[in-house]
Amino acid sequence: MKKAYYTLNDYFKETCQTKVVKLSLDGGFTCPNRDGSLDTRGCLFCSELGSGEFTGDTVSTFIRTDSDIKSQISAQKERLKSKWENPKYMSYFQNYSNTYKSIDALRSLYEEATQDESILGLAVATRPDCISDEVIDLFATYSEKGFFWVELGLQTMHEETAERIRRHYSLTHFEAIYRKLMKQHINIVLHVIFGLPGENRAQMLDTVAYVSSLKPFGVKFHMLNVLKGSDLESYYYETEFQLLTQEAYIQLVCDALERLDSKIVVHRVTGDGPKALLIAPNWIKHKRAVLNGIDKELKRRGTYQGIYSHA
Ligand code: SF4
Repeated sequence: MKKAYYTLNDYFKETCQTKVVKLSLDGGFTCPNRDGSLDTRGCLFCSELGSGEFTGDTVSTFIRTDSDIKSQISAQKERLKSKWENPKYMSYFQNYSNTYKSIDALRSLYEEATQDESILGLAVATRPDCISDEVIDLFATYSEKGFFWVELGLQTMHEETAERIRRHYSLTHFEAIYRKLMKQHINIVLHVIFGLPGENRAQMLDTVAYVSSLKPFGVKFHMLNVLKGSDLESYYYETEFQLLTQEAYIQLVCDALERLDSKIVVHRVTGDGPKALLIAPNWIKHKRAVLNGIDKELKRRGTYQGIYSHA
C-alpha cells in the first residue's frame, strides 16, 4: 500500500521502474572528528564504526575490510541474490566521512564503485567541512552520468545542540557548502536526529521546517540511539538524559512529515541499528512496529507529507 509520504522506493519506481538496493562499501575512510584534526572523540553518538550505525540503511551491516571495492560489490551481490530478482544497485559509502581523502583517491574509489553494469549510481555520506570545490566538481560528473546524491549529517539546526554533540561545524559553514552543491544541481540528502540531548519537541520541529525550506532532494529522520563504545553511552548513564518513547517518536515523525515539503524524498523514518551495539532505546529494534505506527497515526490524523509545509 502506498504510504502517506514520498519514499525512496516510490522515487526509484517513478524514475527507473525497478527495485534498487544499496551496497554499503568501505573505502577505508576516517573522519576529521576522529583522527585528531578536529577531535579524537567523534560526535557524541558516534561509535567506533563511524557515523552512528543507527543511521544505517543498507541491507548489509558495515564491516571494516581490506578487500578492494570490486570484491566488496561481488560479495554483497552474492549474499543478496536470493532476496530480490534482478535488482539494481546503488554503491553507498556511508560510514565515516567519505570525501576525506585526496581527490585522486576519491576519483579512483568512486570509479571502481560504479563500474559494474548493475550499479545505477553512487551515494556518498560526508561532512560539509570535507567538501572542497574539487569534490563538488567530481560529484557533478556523477550527477551527469546517473543517480547520485551526497548525504550530510546536519542532525540539528541549533548551534547549542551542535556543540553539545560535538558536530564541529557551524550552520553557516553548512549553508555555504549547501549553496555550492545546489548551484551544481547535486542531490543532497540531509540527516536529522530526533531526541538529541537538551532539545525539546519545538526545537526538533524547527529543524524540520528549516530542512523543508532548503528543499533538499531527500531527508532521513533518525531516533537517537545509545550505542556501545560511543561517548553517549557514559553521558546516558551519568546524566538524567531521557530518550524519547516509541509513542513520542511516532508522533514526532508524523508532525515532521506533515511539515515537510511533499517533493522531498523521505529516505528513512527509523533506523536499522546494529542490535549487538544497542544500549537504548530497546523499542528501536522493532522497526516494523515503528513503521506501522507512523502509517497508522497519519491515517488516524487524515494527514500526509507536506500538508502543513509552507512551500
Ligand atoms: S562526522 Fe560522522 S563519522 Fe565523524 S564523528 Fe561524527 S558521526 Fe562519526
